Amino acid sequence: MAVRAQAIPCLTDNYAWLLTDEATGTVALCDPGEAAPCLAAVAAAGGRLDLVLLTHHHGDHVAGVAAVVAATGAKVVGAAADAHRLPPLDVAVKPGDTVMLGATPAMVLDSPGHTLGHIAFHIADGGVVLCGDTLFATGCGRLLEGRPADMFAALAALAALPDATLVCCGHEYTESNIHFARTVEPDNAALAAWATKATALRAAGQATVPTTIGHERATNPFLRAADVATLATRRAGKDSFR
Ligand SMILES: [Zn+2]
Repeated sequence: MAVRAQAIPCLTDNYAWLLTDEATGTVALCDPGEAAPCLAAVAAAGGRLDLVLLTHHHGDHVAGVAAVVAATGAKVVGAAADAHRLPPLDVAVKPGDTVMLGATPAMVLDSPGHTLGHIAFHIADGGVVLCGDTLFATGCGRLLEGRPADMFAALAALAALPDATLVCCGHEYTESNIHFARTVEPDNAALAAWATKATALRAAGQATVPTTIGHERATNPFLRAADVATLATRRAGKDSFR
């Protein structure tokens, strides 16, 4: 693998991601919602940080940016469409653009629904997608700005990535998502097996992510929704699920 991805727990249940391009040593940090744990991870990886990649403007994804930039001089990459509500950008990108992580390209994907300016970064050579609050393990983001059709298109774009692609998402919501998913697909054997595994991981204090696109295609009721109406019904059901 040309790119190494490491989850950095932030705040209560957020993950930032540290990405290292092994060919060049270039290091990128995605969605630093809290500076201290991110800077500790950067230091532990050797102290270099070249890029900060932002998926969307929410505070729990960007609150650490200013302190991280001040400490490292990293360049900030985010959506041009949301430049007015993101921290100051050095590189404003739009869907279809490519950001170079050293020698490795990261393609910018349009990923609306949770917010309208939300983007994802697909690093094909590394087998990684940074999907923020669009796709979670066994779940998807709340529709705070977009319509179900926006999220359906965003999820379809992620579902089309290769099965082995690592899903580097923004939150540890997996156990709650599994509880809901099992009400949607009580007979899904892959989901039942995943429930057992995820419970054991959390009991051991470990992250349940990254998963893979292939795993999500087998277990995620939002990625598995066949049409917009089904996705809308499931998302509304999760919004009120206890
Ligand atoms: Zn968010």
